[in-house]
Amino acid sequence: MIEMVLCDLCKKREAVIKIRYAGLNLCKACLSKFVEQKVMLSLKRTGVLDKLSGKYLIIALSGGKDSTNATYIMHKLSQEYDFKMKAVFVDEGIGEYSKQRRAIVMDLCEKLGIEYKIVSMKEEMGISTPEAVSILVRSKSSIKPCSVCGVFRRYLLNKVALDENADYVVTGHNLDDEVQTFIMSLIRGDIRSIAREAHSLEYEDDVPELVPRIKPLYLVYERESLVYFITHGFKRTSLFCPYARFSMRYVVREMINDLEYRRPGMKYRILALKERLGKSIREAVLSSVEMRHCKICGMPSSRDICRACELKELLVKLSSKL
Ligand code: SF4
Ligand code: ZN
Repeated sequence: MIEMVLCDLCKKREAVIKIRYAGLNLCKACLSKFVEQKVMLSLKRTGVLDKLSGKYLIIALSGGKDSTNATYIMHKLSQEYDFKMKAVFVDEGIGEYSKQRRAIVMDLCEKLGIEYKIVSMKEEMGISTPEAVSILVRSKSSIKPCSVCGVFRRYLLNKVALDENADYVVTGHNLDDEVQTFIMSLIRGDIRSIAREAHSLEYEDDVPELVPRIKPLYLVYERESLVYFITHGFKRTSLFCPYARFSMRYVVREMINDLEYRRPGMKYRILALKERLGKSIREAVLSSVEMRHCKICGMPSSRDICRACELKELLVKLSSKL
């Protein structure tokens, strides 16, 4: 017979998750509180909570578990902290995957009563993710699908936020995403990215055309986010992006999950290192980077041409040779 495990906090309800690094079994209600307290903690720690009143937030809603949770929690907070928000879905044009996600986004926004906007990558960037992937594969490029899709998505979100005069862009990045990004930057020796990512915690407005980002799930493990999502009964798709497995992130994710399994709490320790390291090198690294404007689109860039325009040009060049 399987024995019911009780929640360690309320001691009344059945546990739905074991949080190994904290030695806690939690029920649905206590997990909700646990996750939402972490959201409050990260908003307080970055000082952004006190600045939210009267502000306008763009929320990047992909229809996945993390951005759905972030939208749901920020929507709850919007009443108490008196801010406005609009969800933005970037449609990458990835067949049934994008279609289902789009339907989920529309359904969630309608249920919660949140305004939303659909942005087509094909219309805005002139190319969809599958079209870009086809060019990269046929020209045997080493550039991975996510490197194009991710850059275009970030670019479009920032552009929408600027067009809409938004004060912040909210993203669903969880603690696992942050740790993976840090390890990937270490592997690539990308010191600028490590310095810049520390920046995202402080929300300084030194580049007016880069709308500051808020990451409510910054302290929430991916597993906690997943169980929060499932126990809240949010709609989901069983489809995964067909290109995700080509990304370096996929390998790094497995590696970090294995480390966490062997040493619970490892992800927290890596996150703490990421912040300490980022803050200590930030001044030296970023002061040597002169921010300019992209000669093609006018968006801020540390180079003459921003990464999104550079990729667009590269794709045109590669396709002309096919
Ligand atoms: Fe784009 Fe990569 Fe995400 Fe797929 S997994 S939607 S290719 S960023
Ligand atoms: Zn540009």
